[in-house]
Amino acid sequence: MKIGNQSGRLVVVTDTGLLDVERASEGRFSSDPQAIYDRWPDFLAWARSAPLDELSPLDTAKLGAPTPSPSQIFAIGLNYRDHAAESGFDAPDAQPPVFTKFASSITGAYGEIELPPGGHTDWEVELVAVIGLRAYQVAEQRAWDHVAGLSVGQDISERILQMASPSPQFSLGKSYPGFSPIGPWLVTPDELENRDSLRLGCSINGETVQDGSTRQLIFSVPQLIAKLSAVLPLSPGDVIFTGTPAGVGLGRTPQRWLQPGDELVSFIEGIGELRHRFI
Ligand code: ZN
Repeated sequence: MKIGNQSGRLVVVTDTGLLDVERASEGRFSSDPQAIYDRWPDFLAWARSAPLDELSPLDTAKLGAPTPSPSQIFAIGLNYRDHAAESGFDAPDAQPPVFTKFASSITGAYGEIELPPGGHTDWEVELVAVIGLRAYQVAEQRAWDHVAGLSVGQDISERILQMASPSPQFSLGKSYPGFSPIGPWLVTPDELENRDSLRLGCSINGETVQDGSTRQLIFSVPQLIAKLSAVLPLSPGDVIFTGTPAGVGLGRTPQRWLQPGDELVSFIEGIGELRHRFI
């Protein structure tokens, strides 16, 4: 099942159109796309048997993030060996680096993103996992049960601020407005043939720059949930950016940064694509 946010309203996405959840459920579920995660099992049970007779058209330009205002956003660094190597770091063995992206940086799957003046702005396509059941001290073996679904994310990063010396600013450098696109919708894990092995990548103006697979993750989605929830509770609707494969601008010779006019297209097999132009 695909769950989306069109014009700020919660929708079920089908092959032939969108079902507006508040209207179709006659008010049982609210139109707020973020609030639904608190009632995820109830909602899923309803959505799986919802009447699909009053569908409205999909308008991709109006798609917002399926998680517009999570209570927590976790982002994982160096979670692919080839990306750790291109970044000049050893791959983590016991614990991956964790930082946050602030929620005001979230945007939807399409549109324009402003480049900070004088910055070195880079791309990082990432699988995003969204929590559907509170997770605290959850074992890896049970972790998938706590995932509402998966989405495509971009961890857009301004490298000068991120790598500032002597105080690196990962969270700020990755939180300019529009720097956390998520979309085009949420896909429930049962919809995917192999939720642990999804091809992901991105291109700039049609040139492929990243092309990897989530089977190369050093810490898988269940391992990340186990490690994060060992420390603190993850709430329904919380977001995990799981890390990026090789091919970012930082790791190139010469290094490459996003320029005004560039179009970045990001995809994950079985989920969908994001399309952004930088200004
Ligand atoms: Zn990242």
